[in-house]
Amino acid sequence: MYNAKRSNIKLQFSFHSLALSIQLANMNKLGNYVTGSWIEGDGEGQLLYNAVTGAAISSATSDGLDFESILNYAREKGNRALRKMTFQERGRMLRALALHLMDHKEKFYTISYQSGATKIDSWIDIEGGIGNLFSNASLRRKLPDEPFCLDGDPIVLSKGNTFMGHHILVPKEGVAIHINAYNFPVWGMLEKIAVNLLAGIPAVVKPATVTSYLTEAVVREIISSKILPEGALQLICGSAGNILNFVNSQDVVTFTGSATTGLKLKSHLTILSEAVPFNMEADSLNCIVLGPDVTPDKPEWDIFVREVKKEIIVKAGQKCTAIRRIFVPENKVEEMSRAIANELDKTVVGNPLNEKVRMGSLAGQGQRNEVRSQVQKLLASSQIIYGSLDSVAVLDADATEGAFLSPMLLLNENPFTTEASHNVEAFGPVSTIMPYKTIDDAIELSKKGKGSLCTTIVTADAAVAKAYVLAAATHHGRILVLNEECAKESTGHGSPLPLLVHGGPGRAGGGEEMGGLRGIRHYLQRTAIQGSPTMITAISNVYQANAKGVDPGKHPFKKYFEELVIGDQIVTEKRIITSEDIDKFAALSGDQFYAHLTSTDFTGTMFEQQVAHGYFIMSAAAGLFVDSFEKNPVLLNYGIDELRFTKPVYPGTSVYIRFSCKEKIAQEQKEQNPEVPFIKGQDIPKGIVKWLVEIFDDADETVGVGTILTMVQMKNKI
Ligand code: NAP
Repeated sequence: MYNAKRSNIKLQFSFHSLALSIQLANMNKLGNYVTGSWIEGDGEGQLLYNAVTGAAISSATSDGLDFESILNYAREKGNRALRKMTFQERGRMLRALALHLMDHKEKFYTISYQSGATKIDSWIDIEGGIGNLFSNASLRRKLPDEPFCLDGDPIVLSKGNTFMGHHILVPKEGVAIHINAYNFPVWGMLEKIAVNLLAGIPAVVKPATVTSYLTEAVVREIISSKILPEGALQLICGSAGNILNFVNSQDVVTFTGSATTGLKLKSHLTILSEAVPFNMEADSLNCIVLGPDVTPDKPEWDIFVREVKKEIIVKAGQKCTAIRRIFVPENKVEEMSRAIANELDKTVVGNPLNEKVRMGSLAGQGQRNEVRSQVQKLLASSQIIYGSLDSVAVLDADATEGAFLSPMLLLNENPFTTEASHNVEAFGPVSTIMPYKTIDDAIELSKKGKGSLCTTIVTADAAVAKAYVLAAATHHGRILVLNEECAKESTGHGSPLPLLVHGGPGRAGGGEEMGGLRGIRHYLQRTAIQGSPTMITAISNVYQANAKGVDPGKHPFKKYFEELVIGDQIVTEKRIITSEDIDKFAALSGDQFYAHLTSTDFTGTMFEQQVAHGYFIMSAAAGLFVDSFEKNPVLLNYGIDELRFTKPVYPGTSVYIRFSCKEKIAQEQKEQNPEVPFIKGQDIPKGIVKWLVEIFDDADETVGVGTILTMVQMKNKI
């Protein structure tokens, strides 16, 4: 358990070195969790401070660690264990971890306050991070019950259907090395490991040292839970040392931080020579645009003001996605500046433990100094119109001992002729308002940031929104179009979401992460595979059209989930489709589309005569492949994927079906709801079975194809 000691020792100038030694001796050194145990690094390490009080709380060092062994341990232990697990097992593991961390979240909040974070800031970091685990856990439902998966559609490569291609994704044999920024010590780790663990590869996490005490506390909880296999997660608190010397092409390195550090790491000789995938999320001059249609009397005006204020004060502006540039039509700059300043003026800055406080401190004195020096650079072309570089009124804290800074609004009147506002990131509660004339100007200004993580346009005018999105998309990783209709439920400008891509071109690092299933592909090797459909079926465990079928021995609907074999196949009797059938289906369904009516004059249409409804053909197919009036292990049919009608079926045509077991996904049982002790179906062990339905005519040509989705009972629980 995390047990950082607080020190009351104050540094006195005259006793500086003596006091420092005493302080270091008293400090709790953070652990590094490597090669299966908690290890303290050599030496005294870097002191870490409570950002609110300035008191030293712990120290961190990774000196003396053997980074080569750490990576080898991850590859040999963690990777081997994870790659054997199926996506379903990994997903359930993530869910268990998320539930476990939720049970222990209160202690993380207690530690998080020390980084200057308010309750809301900590919620974004802690529960936002855990939310990423839940979200990735749920992705298992879109993945097979296998350690690997197919990617995309099958490719037909021959006329005789004996040779085909596909793409397969297998977990890389290496380790994900995550080098993270200081601003989100929990989210930063969890949003990344959720993805690599689901993909089946282990992680070594190196949080930024200044806030690593919080990451360490979470990792201690993860390790003690024993939910992850050994070697799946290691932690380095302190310098990354020479770890990059030992990476290889099976590893993936992700970096979140400043563009300067990112460039240094990205150009590391081993990264280049070993062709190691390197995903970079760097600093970003994100912007918001007030649409030309928005006036002070419109709801979008207040929405804009609130969004800007939120982005300045949440996490004291230490968010990679925070709005740094505000573009407003030139005739509204003055009024908008006043509105934002009024809102900022209501913000109570101070000790985040005080409930009235809305903005805490920066993560440390070093970070405050850095923001001040960046603002000085911005002031070459801007002026401060709200806030102060030097002073801030704080509640329940000491503005000098704690790393507090006033929220600041700057004005740059010449955004086209000056560059600092588009180049200099002040990673704190600072944003610059700038005028624009036309929407094209606003688009051009947004691009002067040379690539950002996200941009927002606030407008109620669809034409403005479309023009902005289509022209600005080249330079931004995410675009939020905000107006009255969505504002209440909007997740906001600054929130990257697990199911949407996070990253941005150019200056933002050129990286991409998360984005639902897109994210896991960064940790999987995509390989094209070619062969006969029968071979590709055997390898992938997904039935491919034209593969040799398997005699199921009995109707496959009579088999339990465990008994079904991929490729179990039946070919049905034939059924003649009559004009009377089509008339009846038209009457019953009400679908009186002209092509299905005998009364239609077919001159100039796509058809020769009355044609059967595609849905009727599919229904008739079900009539052919569904077996028996008796109850059987098939519990229900819940849909059809990829249904296509490929050739018209005219009256008099006989159709028959080839029905093949395509894919099986075991389902864990839902937890029993204690409020409703018995919901029909909830206590039945079951899995999803997909069936390929191919419908042929008298000429043995395909007239329809689809994938039927059923739930099939299991004999045993999993
Ligand atoms: P930073 O100074 O670049 O550090 C980032 C990480 O790199 C830290 O873990 C740091 O470790 C490590 N590092 C520094 N030098 C290294 C080296 N030579 N070898 C290996 N690792 C090294 O950035 P920061 O100050 O922590 O974070 C603030 C910046 O991050 C801002 O510019 C912000 O825009 C950016 N950021 C971007 C995103 C995004 O998603 N795009 C998200 C958050 C933050 P130490 O702490 O031990 O030095």
